[in-house]
Amino acid sequence: MSSAANLNRQWVLVRRPEGVPQADDFMLAEAVIEQPQPGQVLLRNMFLAMDPAIRNVLGQGGAYSQPLPLGAPVRGIVLGEVMESADPSLSPGDRAWGFGTWSDYSCGPAQGFVKIAGSDDLASHLHQLGTIGLTAAYGLFDIAGLRSGDRLLVTGAAGAVGSLVGQLARAAGASRIVGIAGGPAKCALAVADYGYDVCLDYKSGDDLAARIAEAFPDGIDVVFDNVGGDQLEMAIENIAKDGRIALCGMISGYGEATPAAGPRNLWNLVARTAQMRGFRVTDILLDRQRVAALQSRITALMDAGRLRADLDIRDGLETAPSAFSDLFDGSNSGRLLVRLK
Ligand code: NAP
Repeated sequence: MSSAANLNRQWVLVRRPEGVPQADDFMLAEAVIEQPQPGQVLLRNMFLAMDPAIRNVLGQGGAYSQPLPLGAPVRGIVLGEVMESADPSLSPGDRAWGFGTWSDYSCGPAQGFVKIAGSDDLASHLHQLGTIGLTAAYGLFDIAGLRSGDRLLVTGAAGAVGSLVGQLARAAGASRIVGIAGGPAKCALAVADYGYDVCLDYKSGDDLAARIAEAFPDGIDVVFDNVGGDQLEMAIENIAKDGRIALCGMISGYGEATPAAGPRNLWNLVARTAQMRGFRVTDILLDRQRVAALQSRITALMDAGRLRADLDIRDGLETAPSAFSDLFDGSNSGRLLVRLK
């Protein structure tokens, strides 16, 4: 709830972060709750989704999107209850998710929100039934073209996206699924619950390049990369003939003022006739047929009781900046959400 009847608490950006975002890069301000204009809707936020890519707009922007102006509310995916609507697609009392702000209330175009049918397990719409599940399935099947028998390497394997990629690939018949994650606990989880045959701990001090080469003596058919940087270069080093690399994210570089040089071994893509392609899940959100087809792969696993989707929930709007920081040192375990009262 807002601190006063008609006020909306909202996190605004007051300083561009250097490296990992800090709490005092943000300020909790108050503004009058907006009234929806024609075509708009006002939601009471129930959950804020902590997505690593938000980091890019807090800095100087770049290819991804324009930088967020200082003093502006931080934008991200939210899920909430419709309080007022000036659009026929949503009515007061509906639950919906879409692009909003880190605040008590979000006001914006109704077309940017997806109505939720039923009200059980709302958080699943910000994880396996929402953009995270679609990212995993779209990247794995449409971008990388995973086939039965493929050997797969996934970076960020124990995260929200990575955990679903492992399980989708297992169900699709991948012959070898190797993950990379930070720390023994996350690696154990990846093997026990997320479908991985092996998980390599990049924080262990071991020679990761050597471990990847050992794990794939005959090369990697598909790489699903969430991390970029050195790990991407190591993946390219081991790519098999006609291999496919889906670039989902590059979290290792999101905080860098000067991006690191790219992989030094791109020649491998030529020599092994491999492909590397980036993608954004937002590009298919409006393609309802494709979204339904990808979601059906996820719901089939859910219905069979074969999909584990872990949540890491922090309580209270106040926790948003520190929760967000946790994405960048691996302190989160599962889809990171902030729950509002
Ligand atoms: P997540 O994996 O649940 O959380 C982020 C994880 O990244 C951390 O827990 C940490 O795991 C790892 N990490 C952080 N800094 C790292 C570094 N310097 N080197 C290696 N690993 C690091 O987050 P998510 O929401 O699932 O997102 C994963 C990736 O997918 C991100 O790159 C994100 O931008 C991308 N994404 C892309 C799309 C798209 O449309 N293309 C959509 C959604 C997400 P460890 O503890 O294992 O280090």
